Amino acid sequence: MRSLIDLHCHSTVSDGVLTPTELVNYAAEKGVRVLALTDHDDVAGLPEARQVAHSHGMQFIDGVEISVTWRRRTLHIVGLKINPEYPALAEGLEKIRAGRHVRAVGIANALEKIGIHGALEGAYEYSKGGIISRTHFARFLIEKGYAKDTKAVFKHYLVKGKPGYFEHQWATLEDAMAWIVGSGGVAVIAHPGRYDLGRVTMLELMHEFRSLGGRAIEVVTGSHTVDQYQEFAKIAHQFDLASSSGSDYHGKETYIDMAKLPSLPRSCVPVWQDWPEVKGLELEAH
Ligand code: AMP
Ligand code: MN
Ligand code: MN
Ligand code: MN
Repeated sequence: MRSLIDLHCHSTVSDGVLTPTELVNYAAEKGVRVLALTDHDDVAGLPEARQVAHSHGMQFIDGVEISVTWRRRTLHIVGLKINPEYPALAEGLEKIRAGRHVRAVGIANALEKIGIHGALEGAYEYSKGGIISRTHFARFLIEKGYAKDTKAVFKHYLVKGKPGYFEHQWATLEDAMAWIVGSGGVAVIAHPGRYDLGRVTMLELMHEFRSLGGRAIEVVTGSHTVDQYQEFAKIAHQFDLASSSGSDYHGKETYIDMAKLPSLPRSCVPVWQDWPEVKGLELEAH
């Protein structure tokens, strides 16, 4: 069965290719019934997306995906049902966005050193007034012929140990959790299978996340393999955490399409279990 609830996707406010309006129209076309927009470190797309969602009779959830540094690693924490106007959250996100600019300058300088000029301006051109991310550098580098696709450009330029990588400190896990939980939202660990933490550290993360008020982990996501659905369903059960599901759609170029993911494994407690928005909705299709 395919799932018609999608709690993780991106618009041009962060590094997606569709505007909030285009994204929600696309989701509607694919049959999505409940959608959360979760742009990286920014909530600017939510009002527009909500309005368009309602025009389609779709349920809409305010979301965000916060960049966090935990034990020198980058993690993503999704906030669902957040209050985007909660001051600590709004100010915290603003700080992260300012940090993104500083990092972008660092990335551009690093690229300059290997003879790639104009990367800062080039990347900003792709960011179109939204946040600046490595995805925008990737698009610039592909345009200039340095790599053939997104996967290759990250592998050869934009990850740790490569010439265009620039170390950066994101928010702390404690702060990100306090912003989400304090705003009345539900904190969810995004795509835990992507972090390559090792079993012991992964379990320590789950423990710490839970003690900071974390409520769910993504079990089904465009970033996980089918085996990882089972692996993280078990971990969710073990830590008494709910499970979330989302495509992480950024546009045609990355990950999976919308409304293509399977339903959560039977053992999972859906993060939306008690949400009034989804009550009585049929969230599965063949
Ligand atoms: P940033 O938050 O600026 O460091 O950028 C992270 C974003 O880059 C992620 O949200 C993905 O959209 C994208 N990304 C990271 N690694 C890869 C990869 N290997 N291939 C494609 N996109 C990636
Ligand atoms: Mn992204
Ligand atoms: Mn992510
Ligand atoms: Mn994402």
